[in-house]
Amino acid sequence: MSADTNLMPIPGAVDPVPVARATKPRADGKVELVGLSKDAIRAEFETAGLEPKQAKLRSKQVWHWIYNRGVIDFMGMSDVAKAQQPWFAERFVISRPEVVEAQVSSDGTRKWLLRTHDGHDFEMVFIPDADRGTLCVSSQVGCTLNCRFCHTGTMQLVRNLEPAEIVGQVMLARDALGEWPSQPEGRMLTNIVMMGMGEPLYNFDNVRDALKIVMDGDGLGLSRRRITLSTSGVVPMMERAGAEIGVNLAVSLHAVTKEIRDEIVPLNRKYGIEQLLEACAAYPGANNARRITFEYVMLKDKNDSDEHARELVRLIRQYRLPAKVNLIPFNPWPGAPYECSTDDRIRSFSNIVFEAGISAPVRTPRGRDIDAACGQLKTAAEKKRRSREAA
Ligand code: SAH
Ligand code: SF4
Repeated sequence: MSADTNLMPIPGAVDPVPVARATKPRADGKVELVGLSKDAIRAEFETAGLEPKQAKLRSKQVWHWIYNRGVIDFMGMSDVAKAQQPWFAERFVISRPEVVEAQVSSDGTRKWLLRTHDGHDFEMVFIPDADRGTLCVSSQVGCTLNCRFCHTGTMQLVRNLEPAEIVGQVMLARDALGEWPSQPEGRMLTNIVMMGMGEPLYNFDNVRDALKIVMDGDGLGLSRRRITLSTSGVVPMMERAGAEIGVNLAVSLHAVTKEIRDEIVPLNRKYGIEQLLEACAAYPGANNARRITFEYVMLKDKNDSDEHARELVRLIRQYRLPAKVNLIPFNPWPGAPYECSTDDRIRSFSNIVFEAGISAPVRTPRGRDIDAACGQLKTAAEKKRRSREAA
């Protein structure tokens, strides 16, 4: 592939540049409609030459086809005049990310390697449970934050995903699960977590615009109570996330001392634990019914002692946080500088937090047979490709 000037090299672990990089326009010059608000679609139709009244009517109809029916072809829009359908098809597209690889685990977990229109790969995972189905959505290709245990943080290139590419993940999952037309009951895809590749609060505008469409009752219609945004602690954006998006918050805490968190989540050198927990305490909408989730990856002999568990409880109490703790067994990758804690250690850590009255489930690894964890399928697919090329 040719050099891509929109790619952002990792500028540094502590102080990366959280600016949006415009992506290349589509090679075919058409305007992508997925990810645009209703008003923006109407404006695009007007710019392309429709009378304001026509533009308004058509944008309503097209929006309905896109988000309620999952239709991607203007020729299938039966209430748009037949003679006018090609006019739309020549100027606009309704697309999905390209599927490079799709896998299903023996436990039902599904994983996709997806590709943007300008050739960058990212991942998406669907985790079915008895009473719900959770889609793990990516916000960026790669990540600038370099957490030491995270494989995504080691990727060399980063590009923000656009609203179309974020909403497009949810729509692609609905395609795969056969969940069109949209209906409020009986869906397999019930929950969304912004926990795939990337730091969602470093791509704030696009994530917000995408989630607005996902939450729109006329859009994909998922309640904000069923959406969780996970951040490694971009403190200055947390208040805006609460005010402008209003979804559940998860915070990747992972350590309770400055020394250890500085090492494993380098962003901590910029926004420390106290600042982060103050921002959590101020997060709009957090209460006992809607708790903040603290994610804690279990790293052997690093952050997993009983003292660490007790300090975690103390901090949650000190800041009076309506909290639950998610203990995540570390998912190792080749060359990772850490190992996962032992089962006994994880149990002991969990018990201490639980006995203090704070829920502390251990997340069971899902889809291990298809490497369904942060940044892992992409590497597996690249390895396969490289070995094919070498052969
Ligand atoms: N950037 C955001 C969201 C994406 S990461 C954040 O860091 O919160 C989603 C979660 O997966 C985070 O809690 C992250 O710390 C965790 N994670 C990343 N790599 C992991 C690994 N190898 N094993 C277990 N958890 C991992
Ligand atoms: Fe980025 Fe999150 Fe991975 Fe840290 S854990 S490198 S913030 S994706």
